[in-house]
Amino acid sequence: MNVRSAPLSTTHDVVNQTPPLEDYNLFACNRALAEAIARHGAAAAAPWLADRGAELGSAAMFALALEANRNAPLLELFDRSGRRRDQVGFHPAYHELMAYLKRHGASSAPWAEPGPGAHVRRAALFMMYAEVEDGTLCPTTMTYAAVPSIRRDPALAAEWLPRIHSREYDPRFLPAAQKRGVTLGMGMTEKQGGSDVRSNTTVAAPAGGREYRITGHKWFLSAPMSDAFLILAQAPGGLSCFLLPRHAADGGVNDLRIQRLKDKLGDRSNASSEVEFWGARATLIGEEGRGVPIILEMGTYCRLDCALGTAGLMRQALSQALHHAAHRTAFGRRLAEQPLMANVLADLAIESEAATALALRLAAAFDAQDDPVEALLRRVLTPAVKYWICKRGPAVAAEAMEVLGGNGFVEEGPLARIYRQMPLNSIWEGAGNVICLDVLRALGRHPEAVDALATEVAPALAGDARLAEFAQRILRGLREDSGDEAAARRTAQGIATLVQGALLVRYAPNVVADAFCVTRLCDDAFAGGAFGALPRSTDFRAIAERAWPR
Ligand SMILES: Cc1cc2nc3c(=O)[nH]c(=O)nc-3n(C[C@H](O)[C@H](O)[C@H](O)COP(=O)(O)OP(=O)(O)OC[C@H]3O[C@@H](n4cnc5c(N)ncnc54)[C@H](O)[C@@H]3O)c2cc1C
Repeated sequence: MNVRSAPLSTTHDVVNQTPPLEDYNLFACNRALAEAIARHGAAAAAPWLADRGAELGSAAMFALALEANRNAPLLELFDRSGRRRDQVGFHPAYHELMAYLKRHGASSAPWAEPGPGAHVRRAALFMMYAEVEDGTLCPTTMTYAAVPSIRRDPALAAEWLPRIHSREYDPRFLPAAQKRGVTLGMGMTEKQGGSDVRSNTTVAAPAGGREYRITGHKWFLSAPMSDAFLILAQAPGGLSCFLLPRHAADGGVNDLRIQRLKDKLGDRSNASSEVEFWGARATLIGEEGRGVPIILEMGTYCRLDCALGTAGLMRQALSQALHHAAHRTAFGRRLAEQPLMANVLADLAIESEAATALALRLAAAFDAQDDPVEALLRRVLTPAVKYWICKRGPAVAAEAMEVLGGNGFVEEGPLARIYRQMPLNSIWEGAGNVICLDVLRALGRHPEAVDALATEVAPALAGDARLAEFAQRILRGLREDSGDEAAARRTAQGIATLVQGALLVRYAPNVVADAFCVTRLCDDAFAGGAFGALPRSTDFRAIAERAWPR
């Protein structure tokens, strides 16, 4: 064609671009998830989860998530006349997402309707939701996690639990008694220390009975529009836990003043703030001086959700990578068919399946509240699992992003947001080192937890010699000396990967378990390195097909 006579309205055809991955069922395509809920007592929830999976995988839901993250919350400190408001304004998409979570019991169902598999069922919903949006999970987690601490005080429980159990989301800035449903937050971290909460300087002055006046600050207080917060403050008897409502009992606004909102790397749909308390009214939970163990009970459930949320994010990162590689062609062949890319995809799929299996195994331990062996496992696995899954999350996100090439790096696609979100779960509720030191603390206080771990993995050991050898090494190490702080990351990783290996050997297809054991449990130069170094003999296609987001 004569170049000069080419029509000016087009310069090129758009080809070889991947269609968006949407309008698919997040549950139906996730075999690792479906199999895990079945073995952990929540099989009956499968039809319900399939309905949620279809809703959450819809284009409309992904669009809401994008809107909520593009339109970050705005601090509304003053009204037009200069009076303090101390409120946060959210985009309607945020409210719609919060209403979805509340409606389906993500912040309350295991407490409001306890029963076999209740925490696992919620965990599966939480993981699927995390694939779509994560900022709204912050207040959802804190509301769910606050319940065991609030239950310690019968009067507070009678007042607050019905509102927490409510399936209605009510964003109005009103006293909780006038609302159809509430959300809760938590305040521990201060400027001088977050891990070391005993350095808190916020003061609680007795104001009669169990009431106190709180004066001080919090350096991180997420979801500041929550209806109440569990906070730590120094009472005369030591560091104590309080419930601090947004509105006081007389209906007036409590003296919590927002200073500013954090400008965050990720988690953009959610507001995180710095606040000051100017004699704010609060009610003591438990005894003075017992604040740390009481609020750590809340922290334990938050840690479970950190693991679940990261496993969900990993799953979505993997799905995006698989989907793209199935559509995109380079050098005359689809990416998924290129041997080296097939290796990368299979390795990501193994990591995602291992995270899913481990996170749901942990959730199952929360369902077995009265079983002493499960209690030991819960104590030691919660920090170990939180640590390891959250450490693997950013690496999975980075590798999945690379599968999409430049398209992975732009904010129009979901990978960039997933990547920015990933490190958060590793930092909040105990950053990596602190959480590994908690593993040591758990083992030090409960040496019998090693026996519980041995019992947990025993049925799998005959299935794979590498797993058996790894188990022997890890368990012997735990029995001989598990108190070495400098080795705490090795300890936590060893426990988490041991349980992952046992779960995969028992329940996953042989091809998945085999590839996991050879690359994660053997101490060769490639174990723990970049993804895509599975042995050449691995059936990459079979592993990827099991994970395919169809
Ligand atoms: C988006 C976001 C939202 C948050 N929301 C909340 C909230 O709602 N409420 C709340 O209370 N907090 C919140 N946090 C705060 C968070 O929980 C803390 O940032 C976290 O606990 C770490 O505390 P820090 O920042 O003071 O770090 P530091 O305590 O100073 O720790 C810094 C580093 O040192 C390491 N470290 C500490 N002690 C040791 C040790 N003994 N040995 C080896 N290493 C050690 C830690 O692992 C960490 O890597 C939020 C944080 C973020 C990023």
